[in-house]
Amino acid sequence: MSSRSVAGPEIERLIQLLAKLPGLGPRSARRAALHLIKKKEQLLAPLAEAMDVAVEKVGICSTCGTVDTSDPCTICSDPRRDASTILVVEDVADLWALERAAALNCRYHVLGGTLSPLDGIGPDDLNIGGLVDRVEAGGVSEVILAVNATVEGQTTAHFVTDRLAGFDVRVTKLAHGVPVGGELDYLDEGTLTQALKARTAF
Ligand SMILES: [Zn+2]
Repeated sequence: MSSRSVAGPEIERLIQLLAKLPGLGPRSARRAALHLIKKKEQLLAPLAEAMDVAVEKVGICSTCGTVDTSDPCTICSDPRRDASTILVVEDVADLWALERAAALNCRYHVLGGTLSPLDGIGPDDLNIGGLVDRVEAGGVSEVILAVNATVEGQTTAHFVTDRLAGFDVRVTKLAHGVPVGGELDYLDEGTLTQALKARTAF
């Protein structure tokens, strides 16, 4: 039995691409595609336009490593933010989660992952040098390591702490409340705020 297409290749392609999004399998991708097609003017066209703009404008902040449409990013160029505190996260999703909690009015640094020798990810693959440069440049009094409580996250935290050992900077970590192996992005704002407020020396 050969598989038959229910729609032209353009629609099949839309479904295939949507199915690559996190949380969407083939079934929900078909549903999403159909919804977009039905709402062509109200949703599909504005979405396509927003994506076009994003493709053109989104880049990585050369200071902190987050994604934004400007470099330096919105956070790095905000003078109202306390530049003496850098909150270090693994991923942009963690930064966004911490910003939702709005617990600190600080700057950030996105490592872009964790050390993982088994996957061939070493220090040079992460944005650790950039963090050391920022601390070396001065004006930073505290670096808070908000890495995940996974083995890789903790290994990375130790490595970063070692790299910052020679500088006059306080290195702290999130307190209890972050479950082992738990990913920051899945924590509610209250838990994140508590974990930040009760941070301890690394
Ligand atoms: Zn930035």
